[in-house]
Amino acid sequence: MAATVLELARTADRIAATTSKREKVRLLAEFLARLEGDELVLATRYFTGGVFPVGDPRTLSVGGAAFGELVRAQGIDDAELSRIWRSHGDSGDWFREVLVRAGHSGGSALGVAELDASFKALSGAGGAKARTSLLRALIDRVGPDEARFIAKLINGEMRIGLREGLVEEAIVVAFEAEPAQVSRAMMLLGDLGEVAALAAKRTLHEAAPRWFVPLRPMLATPVADAAEAIARLGDEVWVEDKYDGIRCQLHRRGGRVALFSRDLKDVTAQFPEVTLGAALLARDVILDGEVLAFRDGLVMPFRSLQTRLGRVAPDASVMEAVPVIYVAWDLLVEEETVLLDAPLRERRARLEALGATDRIALAHLESVRGAAEVDRRFADARARLNEGLLLKQPGSPYTPGRRGMNWLKLKRPMDTLDVVVIGAEWGHGKRRGVLSDVTFGVRVDGTDEHVAVGKAYSGLTDAEIADMTKLLLDITITDRGHYRTVRPEIVLEVAFDAVQPSSRHRSGYALRFPRIAHWRHEKPVSEIDTLSRVRQLAEARDVAHEQRIDVAAD
Ligand code: AMP
Repeated sequence: MAATVLELARTADRIAATTSKREKVRLLAEFLARLEGDELVLATRYFTGGVFPVGDPRTLSVGGAAFGELVRAQGIDDAELSRIWRSHGDSGDWFREVLVRAGHSGGSALGVAELDASFKALSGAGGAKARTSLLRALIDRVGPDEARFIAKLINGEMRIGLREGLVEEAIVVAFEAEPAQVSRAMMLLGDLGEVAALAAKRTLHEAAPRWFVPLRPMLATPVADAAEAIARLGDEVWVEDKYDGIRCQLHRRGGRVALFSRDLKDVTAQFPEVTLGAALLARDVILDGEVLAFRDGLVMPFRSLQTRLGRVAPDASVMEAVPVIYVAWDLLVEEETVLLDAPLRERRARLEALGATDRIALAHLESVRGAAEVDRRFADARARLNEGLLLKQPGSPYTPGRRGMNWLKLKRPMDTLDVVVIGAEWGHGKRRGVLSDVTFGVRVDGTDEHVAVGKAYSGLTDAEIADMTKLLLDITITDRGHYRTVRPEIVLEVAFDAVQPSSRHRSGYALRFPRIAHWRHEKPVSEIDTLSRVRQLAEARDVAHEQRIDVAAD
């Protein structure tokens, strides 16, 4: 029996209505168990909020404007529209109510496969006009409840409380599958819909990497020092620099090349040099590695690489100013051979045999023994302004998506700054009713003035947040409702990944990933860090530096 969008919408509502995870899993499992083939793939994907398969470069490009146009065509006046909007605050619910008010009835029950066909047509449509009319045609075929479901899907607002883990559980329940097999298939295929289809056919064991479908990248576990690394990995350790770029998986088959980011997005178009370089490789491969901005033998700071991000097709001047290369450290598939379970030693030997090209380099690898030797490499990496090292177990398999103990990362300790709180905001969700979000600043050298360098909301205990809220209310200078400025009295130590130039704050800098490390009750405000120290930290990172890379000889 063909599944309809209405059935999907009703099931999604029931799943959203319960807070019990078990009940969510049960409801989803019951629904999925009735489906098969393409419908099962599509329904599973829709429940997780996806429209196209993971790694598929297609997008819908239907924004609020298209929905706005459909809404305005319903003949409801603007004041009423905004009243309805305020009473929902969610585009799907708003859209549904507008259609109900307008007496929109829709046609016969739309099937899931027909919805997929509409999405494909939308993604292929040229121009906003064509998309709006396709969207109108789609909505004309459905009633308000299905329209609401479709709007949520298109706007990425599914929010029915189904995390990936729960959908995996539902697949286990629906098809009596092995949990371990379901999660392994998920790591390889990256798409719960495909996993569900294999589970239904009882062929999960056949899950294998596919060309141009990104696998989840293997992750590294942080360790405190060399001794811990040796204790975990054994005496022989493979050491590579920790590169400061963008993690990418490279698929090359025949004349086609694709690059996928860590979050499995297709980023091929951003790095044409890498695509050209990979086309020259001798064999079809799936590589793991990193795109780096690299010029005159030095790795450019991450900030330079950022100028290359998000540009669909970089122009010649950008490519000349910030040239990129791909540094590979792993080989997951070669021709038709899947190498995930082969030891790193074998994968690396094959990678070396593949050879470097103009734009495809190899991670520089050294085999070392014992903690003292690892320490030396680490000190050396730090001296080259590198963030740290990756330490790998030469006999280990490649485990997609796992943060296991076969790859470890040894990073320099996090920088910290002593700062003072200068503003605060009310929190959301669990933090409603407390001033949990604080803006903090440093002192401008030689003055009593403070300028903001960041905002943080994590790191304190609930009791500390409650205490701080009382104090913040006492020291408020101006209350603007949502945000208040406060007298600079509360000193915090904040830890962060890096200092970056930023136009957001008057200081000209912003901390990247700040976390509150301590509330420093004992430290006087006169002794906090100053703007010149922030500047120093920013400049120290903002230089091209040497990373060990094996590039092709000229
Ligand atoms: P982190 O971002 O601090 O969690 O560190 C892990 C990341 O380091 C990985 O996701 C990679 O993007 C990156 N990385 C840099 N160099 C390497 C390397 N040689 N091997 C594996 N991962 C690396």
